[in-house]
Amino acid sequence: MTVHVIGGGLAGSEAAWQLAERGHDVVLHEMRPVRGTAAHRTEKLGELVCSNTFKSTEPSNAHGLLKAEMRTLGSLILACADEARVPGGSALTVDREIFSQGVHDHIHAHPRISVSREEVTEIPEVGIVATGPLTSDALAERIRARLGVESLAFYDAIAPVISLDSINQDVAFRASRWGKETMEGAGEEGAYLNCAFSKEEYEAFIDALTTADQFTAHEFDSVPYFEGCMPVEEMARRGRESLRFGPMKPIGLQDPRSTARPHAVVQLRQEDRAGRMWNLVGFQTRLRIPEQARVFRMIPGLADAEFLRFGSIHRNSYVNAPAALSPHLALRDAPTTLFAGQITGVEGYTESSATGLLAGINLSRLLRGEEPVVPPPSTMMGALYRYLREADPKHFQPMNANFGLLDDLEGVPAKVLKDKTKKRELFAERGLAQIAAWRDAHALTAATPVLG
Ligand code: FAD
Repeated sequence: MTVHVIGGGLAGSEAAWQLAERGHDVVLHEMRPVRGTAAHRTEKLGELVCSNTFKSTEPSNAHGLLKAEMRTLGSLILACADEARVPGGSALTVDREIFSQGVHDHIHAHPRISVSREEVTEIPEVGIVATGPLTSDALAERIRARLGVESLAFYDAIAPVISLDSINQDVAFRASRWGKETMEGAGEEGAYLNCAFSKEEYEAFIDALTTADQFTAHEFDSVPYFEGCMPVEEMARRGRESLRFGPMKPIGLQDPRSTARPHAVVQLRQEDRAGRMWNLVGFQTRLRIPEQARVFRMIPGLADAEFLRFGSIHRNSYVNAPAALSPHLALRDAPTTLFAGQITGVEGYTESSATGLLAGINLSRLLRGEEPVVPPPSTMMGALYRYLREADPKHFQPMNANFGLLDDLEGVPAKVLKDKTKKRELFAERGLAQIAAWRDAHALTAATPVLG
């Protein structure tokens, strides 16, 4: 049976390769150059639309761990990235042209893959949809209709996410506005963590926010700012008080440990079930990443904030995976229609490729009559899948690899865990051991692709 993979980007190319290597005949459908996207510039498969880095290779970094796990499963994308590597310290930085030429050539040379240049407008019954953040309108509409109105977002307004460990809870206090909205399990204390500002702190924060260096949007990516999607710095520029009447309104919030009335408050909302990741409510932003770190660390209680995800705003079509997809990222009523890449709600080149890799493995298993498999959440890949499965569908936002997603380390003394470097090394050690054990338990062959 021929399998159809829609989208010849990072995830689609990886998925097609994995299927073909497992003996399936694959048609990889790519609409470029028949129909372009606003970001792609070439007709090459696996084109990198923006930066030329796959980020860190150190397993003690979340992106590095994800890559190390993908290597144990034989990733084509990483093998091509290695071939195209340019000096970039510990980051896997590539010559973008050599990289996409490599992906292009290896896919075209594979005897089991044929590439079809056309825009696909139907969802395949047996196949993988990997059409990315810039999925063509016709297919996006088809997916939206199949999944329900709310299931496909078009503009992605992402607020930063902070690790709980790094929030100073002697400063931030737990409360819900007016004592309401108490979340299950949050008890009387309330669902939010709140950071209160004095007038002086607020004024200094507004000065920093409105003058910070901002990401200059690509022309194609100019976002019409509508409610709920306005960058916090843009809102602040409309008037010094506007945040005090918007996401920083202090009304109904009082620190039980203080008698001072807050002048303004930033709220953090729990992002994951385990409560390790906290989202800055209403703080979607286009500030450059170092500027986000500098300015948002001025928020009282966040001086040492560890950013698990930075904010961003760009066009992005993605499925609300926890509401609409199965654990192996297939339609719930059609297990052999899988999704992969950024459209599943992961964010980033490596994350997109990782879901392509697993989609290829799982569709192959399903076609052989085997159950789909997902690595355990002690691995970075498994933790990302858990996020896509278990995140709150009402607030679902795309996610990149980060250590906040992983299961806690068990049986490690608290004083060892206080050493952040050691903790990351232990995460890496455990993740790599577990991915290898998982691979072997399911007899997933994983030869490193021999490219040449
Ligand atoms: P893509 O690589 O975009 O591949 C999808 C493919 O599907 C495309 O080739 C497209 O032409 C094709 N397609 C779409 N619709 C159809 C259709 N109906 N029929 C047939 N083919 C179709 N991540 C990073 O890590 N670093 C960055 O610097 C970065 N910059 C980004 C900049 C922008 C503007 C955007 C939108 C995203 C960026 N991302 C970045 C996020 C993301 O990691 C990349 O977009 C990544 O390429 C996603 O991989 P993918 O395989 O899911 O999608």
